Amino acid sequence: MNFKKTLFIVLTLFICTPVFSQQKYAIVIHGGAGVMAKSEISGERQLEYKAKLNEALNLGEEMLKEGATATDVVVGVINILEDSPLFNAGKGAVFSHDGKNELDASIMEGNTLNAGAVAGVQDIKNPIDAAREVMYNSDHVFLSGKGASEFAKKQGLEIVPNTYFYTKSRHESLEKLLKKERERTSKDNMGTVGCAVLDTNGNLSAGTSTGGMTNKKYGRIGDAPIIGAGTYANNKTCAISCTGHGEYYIRLGFARDISALMEYKNLSVSEACREEIKKLSELEGTGGVIAVDAKGNIAMEFNTSGMFRGFIKSNGEKEIAIFK
Ligand code: ASP
Repeated sequence: MNFKKTLFIVLTLFICTPVFSQQKYAIVIHGGAGVMAKSEISGERQLEYKAKLNEALNLGEEMLKEGATATDVVVGVINILEDSPLFNAGKGAVFSHDGKNELDASIMEGNTLNAGAVAGVQDIKNPIDAAREVMYNSDHVFLSGKGASEFAKKQGLEIVPNTYFYTKSRHESLEKLLKKERERTSKDNMGTVGCAVLDTNGNLSAGTSTGGMTNKKYGRIGDAPIIGAGTYANNKTCAISCTGHGEYYIRLGFARDISALMEYKNLSVSEACREEIKKLSELEGTGGVIAVDAKGNIAMEFNTSGMFRGFIKSNGEKEIAIFK
């Protein structure tokens, strides 16, 4: 090959690489981070988790191919996980100290910086739907408790009795903690769900849904419904959903800080997520984060032994994993 030809190929590759690395769409999800030993989750149970994460990713990809918006995909994907008893969101939510299920959720879109959230709701079947309704159909960003339920009812969302959220295993977790009179263990809370999406119009959106932490008291609210702590999206940077010990995420302004690290310090999405997890570790907090940037680059970082997680990109790349 002569010099001119080689130069032509090298230059073409150089110019085209950024175009090729731009994804048409991308989805990243989590189903909670925590201390988990391979030996404690049976092979069969691991397959169940992976199958559910796979079902959620596949549905999201279908929706994106049909032209759905990033926000609708976030809601569709999270609905699958909320309806499964495997995760600490919707059906599988953990129990509060009073033996109730109190659910939190939030959503944000990166093109408008619009956001919606609900906290401490006891009867909305899919809290992420309520968060979307707050974003699109109210003058507010954040509704709580009975008021949020009243609003959701008016919007025609499905309302269920609190007993709908009962699962034996989550109730046993509460009983165990009450017996030990311990505040909490991270293992018992595992299973918060989240999703971040880049859609075919180049828009980003992120959402998070959770039952919070087992044995929570006094109307405690974690990071999941707080925009900037557990959820954030901005088309300039990335879309983020977090899972872990919420108090630390609130104190760090975790999700917003990742976006700021990208915007002001020019870090990549992976670098920004790693940097923020480092700050979490320095405070001795535990958890994880998922994020997707405007090009479809994915980050999935955590400082626990595992995080239920997965992603899919328009170039066919796909991964579903649980442990480190
Ligand atoms: N971040 C959630 C909370 O603190 C719990 C979790 O993600 O495990 O409510």
